Amino acid sequence: MKRDKLLMTPGPTMLPYKVREAMSRQILHHRTKEFEAYFSKMNDDLKRVYQTQNPVLTFASSGTGAMEAALVNAFSPGDKVLAISVGVFGERFAKIAARFGLDVKLMDIPWGKGVNPEDVKTFLEGDEGKDIKGILITHNETSTGVVNDIKAIGQLLKDKDCLLLVDAVSSLAGIEIKTDDWGLDMVITGSQKALMLPPGLAFVSVSDKAWDFIKKSKMPKFYYDFLSYKKSLSDNTTPFTPAVSLVIAASEAMNMIIEEGLDKIFARHKNLALACRNAVTAMGLELFAEQKYASDLITSIKAPAGIEIDKARGIMNLEHDIMIAEGQQHLKGKIFRIGHMGYVDCYDLLRTISALEFSLKKVGFSMELGAGVAAAQQSIDPYL
Ligand SMILES: *Cc1c(COP(=O)(O)O)cnc(C)c1O
Repeated sequence: MKRDKLLMTPGPTMLPYKVREAMSRQILHHRTKEFEAYFSKMNDDLKRVYQTQNPVLTFASSGTGAMEAALVNAFSPGDKVLAISVGVFGERFAKIAARFGLDVKLMDIPWGKGVNPEDVKTFLEGDEGKDIKGILITHNETSTGVVNDIKAIGQLLKDKDCLLLVDAVSSLAGIEIKTDDWGLDMVITGSQKALMLPPGLAFVSVSDKAWDFIKKSKMPKFYYDFLSYKKSLSDNTTPFTPAVSLVIAASEAMNMIIEEGLDKIFARHKNLALACRNAVTAMGLELFAEQKYASDLITSIKAPAGIEIDKARGIMNLEHDIMIAEGQQHLKGKIFRIGHMGYVDCYDLLRTISALEFSLKKVGFSMELGAGVAAAQQSIDPYL
């Protein structure tokens, strides 16, 4: 018997039935009242999820496209920005900025740790010229399973002529983000992580302060010109053909998110992460991320000595129909990652831990079967 592959990966994530059903509907024309109603509803709900009063723009792209779009709209060539990198996605943000001619100062944090906001403060104070125009930061660093304290960084920039751009691709709707209260100028996310949607949509919120920067930006742009998206948004549409089916699916996903409630969603993820960490430690495995920075959405685990971890992942995938993620770049073969974001409940996690036990045992890891499952069950609240 074959069942659906269970993706316990940090995107794409599993799709609820309502989202799949929406994706299979006959197409609508986008210049109609019917489409505009979906788009308008999705945008109202998105603002609630973002906890913002500001416009949230919608793009047909993956998360990286929206990261590029944010940079191109906010800045001009030669502008100085501080990129805080704690892993693969922080590096990517810095790389895009450099490609577009920004003067990138890099704070490179050892992988497995988050940034200390005090160090950012010190960096800003020591900046010669005091002309840093933007800070680029990853909220939930998916490659290492680390969360950065973006609230504290936002606090540092309150009265400064400097924007805070947040890569929240894997965190929005999974862990708390108070866009307006925390002073986050652009918050970028993608559809295929905690939002329970297929890949292909990206969203960016834009603060008043950011709109002032955008009006002055000298970077060339056409498809991603935020001012044209803002203008269309006031007519409940987009300047170019939107990803119609994805927008309709997103309106369904937003319904589910509002219905469950953000606080409950955050509590569910926190509980899954705790159970996952307890399970793998009970199995005799070691966590990779420093615990005070550990993510509620993805758990990174060191490969046990002498064990071919990618072989164990292969067994999980081919024999147990569960996908978990590998380590990226220099962490390949050294760590593995279990995603628990979006449409995932305690039984998905228990199945995953159980299959991980079978698979690790098969590649020679010595442990007592059931140790991880028992630990997970003891710390999980099945009613969350
Ligand atoms: C997934 C992800 C991205 C973007 O990836 P895309 O493949 O372009 O959607 C960016 N940042 C983080 C933290 C991510 O997890």
